[in-house]
Amino acid sequence: MRPAIASWATGDDRVRPGPIRMTLAQFSYNEPNPDGTWKQCENCSFWRQSDEQCLRMPPDAVVPPDGICRRHDFGPPFPGGDGEKGLGAPQLLEPIMVGFAQPEGGSGCCNCIHGEAGGVKCLIASDNEDPDACAVVAPRGRCAAWGTRSGA
Ligand code: SF4
Ligand code: SF4
Repeated sequence: MRPAIASWATGDDRVRPGPIRMTLAQFSYNEPNPDGTWKQCENCSFWRQSDEQCLRMPPDAVVPPDGICRRHDFGPPFPGGDGEKGLGAPQLLEPIMVGFAQPEGGSGCCNCIHGEAGGVKCLIASDNEDPDACAVVAPRGRCAAWGTRSGA
């Protein structure tokens, strides 16, 4: 029986044989922000700075600048102002649906439970071209499967 992902991620036998691993693309991996910052709401194009709202989430969702979700899209936050670009985007996402979190100190492959220490290899994703190889990632890259590594 295939073990659950959570069980792959514990102990020293986390690396599964290549063909079963999903690719980085399937995990929706994003390269690091070009300016080297952590991926956070404050550098996401869906964030509205004036009232700290996410334009893809319901208006009652609290979205602090150091939050993050799987839909992060690097870009300048929207400065704000009613009527310029309002809430109520076509796809309103509940925070739990997109893995919204507020990881202390930022989140990326370098402090992900599925990443090799130092954040240069992902132990649950295979290379897009070579299914037998662990994917090479960047310390501040991030994908939808990011999970906190205690003590990181
Ligand atoms: S919750 Fe996600 S989509 Fe919204 S501003 Fe933050 S990172 Fe961007
Ligand atoms: S190390 Fe973590 S965040 Fe990075 S690609 Fe792998 S699962 Fe995603």
